[in-house]
Amino acid sequence: CRCWLRRPSPQFVASDGLLLDPSQPRVRLLIGGEFVESRADEHVDVTNPATQEVVSRIPLTTADEFKAAVDAARTAFPGWRGTPVTTRQRVMLKFQELIRANMVTVCLISVLIASFCCCPVLVLVIVPFPPDYKQDKLAENITTEQGKTLKDAWGDVFRGLEVVEHACGMGTLQMGEYVSNVSNGIDTFSIREPLGVCAGICPFNFPAMIPLWMFPVAVTCGNTFVLKPSEKDPGAAMMLAELAMEAGLPKGVLNIVHGTHDVVNNICDDEDIKAVSFVGSNTAGMHIYSRASAAGKRVQCNMGAKNHAIILPDADRDATLNALIAAGFGAAGQRCMALSTAVFVGGSEPWYNLPYLKIKFSSGYTFLSTFEVSQLTILLYREEELVKRASGLVVNSGMVNDADLGPVISRQVPQYEDGNFVGPTILADVKSDMECYKEEIFGPVLLLMKAESLDDAIQIVNRNKYGNGASIFTTSGVSARKFQTDIEAGQVGINVPIPVPLPFFSFTGSKASFAGDLNFYGKAGVQFFTQIKTITQQWKEAPAQRVSLSMPTSQ
Ligand code: NAD
Repeated sequence: CRCWLRRPSPQFVASDGLLLDPSQPRVRLLIGGEFVESRADEHVDVTNPATQEVVSRIPLTTADEFKAAVDAARTAFPGWRGTPVTTRQRVMLKFQELIRANMVTVCLISVLIASFCCCPVLVLVIVPFPPDYKQDKLAENITTEQGKTLKDAWGDVFRGLEVVEHACGMGTLQMGEYVSNVSNGIDTFSIREPLGVCAGICPFNFPAMIPLWMFPVAVTCGNTFVLKPSEKDPGAAMMLAELAMEAGLPKGVLNIVHGTHDVVNNICDDEDIKAVSFVGSNTAGMHIYSRASAAGKRVQCNMGAKNHAIILPDADRDATLNALIAAGFGAAGQRCMALSTAVFVGGSEPWYNLPYLKIKFSSGYTFLSTFEVSQLTILLYREEELVKRASGLVVNSGMVNDADLGPVISRQVPQYEDGNFVGPTILADVKSDMECYKEEIFGPVLLLMKAESLDDAIQIVNRNKYGNGASIFTTSGVSARKFQTDIEAGQVGINVPIPVPLPFFSFTGSKASFAGDLNFYGKAGVQFFTQIKTITQQWKEAPAQRVSLSMPTSQ
């Protein structure tokens, strides 16, 4: 059922009294459990970045519609908060089952394994065909609207699914504390209660995972939710909302509004919204952090990054080079944990040994407009390992089976109007004062730097304003331990290029990569979406006493 996406009926009148264009499908709003057509007369096109086709349109939610979504969440809150946590968990259990059922490739892989056990001949016939990720409707939607490869889109859903699975244990996660007999006949206990209406504002780069970082944790804690997906790729969030309702989420517990700055500002200002989760750029994040905090809300903002890898001479050469290529260029570099800077220490320099690199810029470093699809146009030694491996990557539509990276989201590559393709790009001899180093590029660009020693390399990383992630590649435990202790980054990898923690931990970006004090998911995520109430109770048969006005103390 695609009832979240419809062509407006020819009679449908927008708020300005004009008829809506019935030729383009419009993404609906989700208000009070119904997918409804917005009356907004303004919209934003959702385009396929591989082809520039308009896939759908999102309406710029009107102020009245926004208020209706918040009202629906506020009205649903008392009933949902009073629903036993075991029932809320069961909705999540069903939700994860429905997401899994959508990920048919898991079943296909199981069928292959099973058939191999029974009949190896049969599998020899089947195996040459790669798993058909196109069967996965969520992944297909992500690839269409966001551009990443189907396999990567499948991973996007899977990493979000893990958060849903984690939320299934909310009874334990939300447990309070109890101390018996803190004073004679008196016990004290604390409970974690939901906040009320919470909101989430999402970026484009993980259209499934990031909504799933937000609303499953929030609603299983007993909150109700208003979600604003990215205006660039709202489809996955809508499909997930459809599955969540099919799983039994009551009407009004999850609501979805669309738009850009105005609807975000409405979220920041609305008195009924108690907490805001944001993931995206620093510009938007710091604006939202200050505006929503000033309105008295809790805010958590995960923002931009410049993630470094430090490579010591003793590192495993082959595994490290592969890790740099995969983490630098995977998802066309559009991951907040992409490894965008490799710092080679001392003797590891010959590893890449690029004495001379010339890059043709046309307009600064931004999206390197002269790079050609599927090949590097930088002048360099072809035999060079890193470059060789980068050159071997296939840049193509994410729908094509052998694609390693798809297009980027923005249409900023003049020669490729029909697709936002940027080839894997390596810049060598980068210095800390260069623009390409200071700013987040968020494209398939790997910067190479040099450092004399591990101390120097750590200093380079620590001086950078961002603190999302950093990794070291080494076979020395002593160096790794020094790195882990001295490095100023929230998520540290030791021979692990993308150290994104599973949901029983939290996503712990720091410095300019995070604003707030309670991180996403894990224990901190539950704390963010709940407030503590501490109860002190006295149950004893007490003889009559004289009234005392002195401060009670433990007896
Ligand atoms: P973005 O900031 O442009 O958009 C994110 C959301 O904010 C969107 O819903 C958008 O509508 C809204 N928005 C954008 N500008 C706004 C403004 N001025 N006022 C109000 N609302 C605004 O980010 P993006 O381009 O969608 O995503 C890429 C960014 O997200 C990168 O910087 C990346 O590092 C970051 N990111 C961080 C993490 C993390 O966990 N640290 C994860 C994913 C992405």
